[in-house]
This record gives sequence, structure tokens and C-alpha cells, in this order.
Amino acid sequence: MSLLGASTAALKRGLASSVSRTSSRGLKVLAVLYQGGEAAKQEPRLLGTIENQLGLRPWLESQGHELIATDDKEGPNSVFQKHLKDAEILITTPFHPGYLTRDLISKAQNLKLCVTAGVGSDHIDLNAAVEKKIQVLEVTGSNVVSVAEHVVMSILLLVRNFVPAHEMIERGDWQVSDVARNAFDLEGKVIGTIGAGRIGYRVLERLVPFNPKELLYYDYNALPAEGAAKVGVRRIEDLKDFVSQCDVITVNAPLHEGTKNLVDADLLSHFKKGAWLVNTARGAICNAEDVAAALASGRLAGYAGDVWNVQPAPRDHPWRYMKNPLGGGNGMTPHYSGTTLDAQARYAAGTREIIENYLAGKPQNPANVIVGVGKYETKSYGQR
Ligand code: NAD
Repeated sequence: MSLLGASTAALKRGLASSVSRTSSRGLKVLAVLYQGGEAAKQEPRLLGTIENQLGLRPWLESQGHELIATDDKEGPNSVFQKHLKDAEILITTPFHPGYLTRDLISKAQNLKLCVTAGVGSDHIDLNAAVEKKIQVLEVTGSNVVSVAEHVVMSILLLVRNFVPAHEMIERGDWQVSDVARNAFDLEGKVIGTIGAGRIGYRVLERLVPFNPKELLYYDYNALPAEGAAKVGVRRIEDLKDFVSQCDVITVNAPLHEGTKNLVDADLLSHFKKGAWLVNTARGAICNAEDVAAALASGRLAGYAGDVWNVQPAPRDHPWRYMKNPLGGGNGMTPHYSGTTLDAQARYAAGTREIIENYLAGKPQNPANVIVGVGKYETKSYGQR
């Protein structure tokens, strides 16, 4: 457990003389971030850590506000739950999610604003936030390029059987046929995305130069005709029909009631035998046991991604160890695709901008608003 607690000294120093509402009172801002350890001390650009606190502390304290930054987020005695009771602003990240359940929302009497430093707010009970008139904002677009690049990398490493080939080298072995027997070209494959929003579309754009046989998408929101034509993607409206046509599937939809457990044994039975699946959206969109079984049986040739149904993933999580029948096909990493140093700079700046707007009573960038006061403002979290 780590706590970089509030500076009461800053509160005692008095409040800034600005005319905005920040001058009238000190607010409690609670941030749940991941622990950066030695790396964060050596690399100040690791902004999303409890050590570097998104660069917010000096600015918030200079205005007389209190910042509690912690990675201690589980259970009633956690720093998160203790300070949630009177915090007005909650900052969380998808990388080390502070799960804001309906029950916790009912106890957070002072909470007005939740800011997701990054993209993806499924760790917050959004329906409960709507009911309690708590706004939920993300730093939309802040890491979509970072994730799209990771998706393309993951597709390539699965299709080309890269991980077992590298492991062979580290072991000191050299047997080309053992890895070449399951290595293919991406050219000529059918590649599809579930979700064609900011990330999904960027993945499609980046795949065009690989000369796929066809690009497909499945999304209840249709792409604008011009955007679809630019990448030459075809929409398939039935999910089973969509998966049955794809050699490679990438998941780029948010986690909500309509996507939880979407990829289960039933849907996997409609995949092409030996398809590759990449999920950098949210772990719980894919059923963990069903995916591991599909990989073990060869129904899937590979599964890669960086998101898990519980984070940090327990040591015995099946996705850490699962393999295809040839001993490869696992491209899992910890949740880091959207937290490159470039992305951290963008989501730290975006978090500050959202809080500045809130404190000054200025309108927010509409693209960032997931839940406004009492209603959903996005079309991405299910058909509501
Ligand atoms: P976006 O809102 O721009 O696009 C999401 C798209 O998914 C929308 O077009 C929406 O209509 C579609 N969608 C929603 N439900 C669907 C369903 N049931 N079936 C098919 N399509 C559906 O969001 P984005 O910026 O592209 O991000 C997408 C998700 O990626 C985020 O919500 C987050 O969960 C995840 N993400 C992961 C990381 C990471 O580090 N791994 C970083 C950023 C975002």
C-alpha cells in the first residue's frame, strides 16, 4: 500500500485569489493511480503513477485544494474507499482501476466528477452515476494511436508466430521448422474489428498497407460512408456471420452490458478454425476460460491483448499460461498499450483541462463527456 497524502499545509496557506469558484473553498481530489516504484522515480514522464500524480499536485495545492493519491484500492479499509466518502473529484485510470460500484457511489456523498485519465470508464457503474448526477469524463482520444499501434503489432506477432520464435532463441535453440510450421503472412487475410470507433478505425487505417483480402467491421454505429470508403471496409450486421468470415478479429468496443462476455464458447464456435483474436479493449468482453479452451483446442490459433477481467491479473490467471497445441499463440502483456509515455503526457494534460473547466464552471469538450449531469452523452456505451 502506498499513500502520497494530502498536504494540509497547502490548505492552511490559504486560497488563491482567483475569481473562479476555486477561490471559495478547497476541494478534496482523490486519485487512484498505479504504483510506479523505482521506474517512476527515474522517469518523471511516468505521469500516471502515484509518485508523479499526473503532475497535478503543485497546481491543485497552489489553489488550496487537497490531493490524495493512492494505489490502495481494494476493500472497505483501503485509502480509496476511506477518502471516497468526502471527495468531490475522483481521478482513476483504466490501468489500475479503482472500481466505483453502485454501493460505493451511494456512500460518496460529496462526489460530483469522475475523470478517467485515459479512455474506458467501465470500472465505474455508469448507470448509478447517471442516477446520482455524477459526471463521468474521459480524456477521449488521448491514447487511441498508442492502442491502435499495439493492436497491429499483436496481430503481426500472432500471425507470424513471433513469440515462440523469440523464446527459442533465448533458450539457445535453433529449429526453424518448429516455428515456421505455424507462421503466416498477414497479406491476403480477412481482418475484422468489433467496434469501429476511434481505435477500431485507426487499426483499419494501419492495416490497409498490408494488403488484406478484405477489411470488415461489426458495430451498431455505422461508419460515415466517406471514412468506410477510404479504408475499403465492409460492414457486417450479424455478429456470427462477421466472425465466421474473419481470419483475424480485433476487439475495439467499450465494456458495457452489451459486450460483457460477448466472446464466449458459443460465439467462438462460429469463428474460423485457427483464427487469431486480439483484444485490447477490455478483458471481460472475452470469457477467460472459454478463450483458454479455444486456444488449447486449436479453435483459436492465437490470442493477444493487454486487458484482463481482473487487474492486476492473479498469478494463476489462465491467460498468463494458455497455449495452442503447438505451444505458442499467446501474446498477452500487462495493461500498458494505452500508457506509453506519449499517451501519459496527453492524458495528464487532458485530466488537468477537465478539472480546470470544472473548477471554473466552463463547458467541457463534448467528446470527453461519457455521463453528463443525469444522462449519457455518448453513443459508445451501448444502445441506450
Ligand atoms: P470509441 O467510443 O471511439 O469507439 C467505440 C466503438 O465501439 C463505437 O463505435 C461503438 O459504437 C462501438 N461499440 C459499442 N458497443 C458495441 C457492440 N456491442 N458491438 C460492436 N461495437 C460496439 O472508443 P475508442 O476510443 O475506440 O476506445 C474503445 C475502447 O478501447 C475503450 O472503451 C476502452 O475500453 C478500450 N481502450 C483500451 C486501452 C488500453 O490501454 N488497452 C486504451 C484506450 C481504450
